[in-house]
Amino acid sequence: MLELPEVEVLRKDLEKEVVGKKVKDVTVVTAALVTPFHSKRPDFVKALGGRKIEAVRRRGRVLFVDLDDQHTWLIDPGEQGFLHRETATESPAADTHLTVSFTVGGAVHLTEPGGEVTARAGVVPNERALEAAEVAPDALDPLEDNPTWMEFGRFLHAADQPLKLLMMDPGVIAGIGPVYSDEILWEAGLRHDRSSSTLSTQEVRRLYRGMQEVLQAAMKAAGSGLDDGAEPDSDDDGEVAEHLHVFGRDGLPCHRCRKPITRTRIKKGVYTYHCPQCMI
Ligand SMILES: [Zn+2]
Repeated sequence: MLELPEVEVLRKDLEKEVVGKKVKDVTVVTAALVTPFHSKRPDFVKALGGRKIEAVRRRGRVLFVDLDDQHTWLIDPGEQGFLHRETATESPAADTHLTVSFTVGGAVHLTEPGGEVTARAGVVPNERALEAAEVAPDALDPLEDNPTWMEFGRFLHAADQPLKLLMMDPGVIAGIGPVYSDEILWEAGLRHDRSSSTLSTQEVRRLYRGMQEVLQAAMKAAGSGLDDGAEPDSDDDGEVAEHLHVFGRDGLPCHRCRKPITRTRIKKGVYTYHCPQCMI
């Protein structure tokens, strides 16, 4: 699953690629991609075709592409969705669900491997975009909102939840999932079950700095989203990405204290990778 840093890298690349261009051809290969927003495929094609792209924004894990008619093209990558830059004549790969080409050249393909399509795309009026994308309006986006550490401290205190669950709760913090919640807590040296309302000033600062460092490092590690064609390491492909310190590393030595990393079940379907020695 792409988390905030990877989606931000995609946003920057998409911005470079499409802002100022006009949409030429739209092909919806898989209707399920657009049916959350449109009753039939041609409605999406009509809404996007011929429109000029004005900006590419992001909130949490969702991309918001501003069109020139007070509408927004939403792209939610879902579980495994990804965007690729292609030439206008490139035929879609087997797992492509949407292709959009531009008048000045080039195209963007949305892919998602596997049978089930969890990615979503739609064109909605600007004022309905956040709601349609199911992004909680009050959730903190750590990159976009860029809070000070003191604001972050007040936010943590008010949220009053165990740290791991708080960071993964899209109603509280937008865009952070299983991977970077563990990585941020490791960087900060804080246990997953510490309550966010009981952190000392020093711990709040550590968590704040950890969050910034992990997100910046992840964006650097993601490199160029659209360019390389390869999808970033996902959380269930059995590979451990090089920039990760705990996620997927159970049994391997902690990069800080050499004790083995442990995988602990928090609740149904939610696990945390952590170091029992140096995360307290
Ligand atoms: Zn350790």
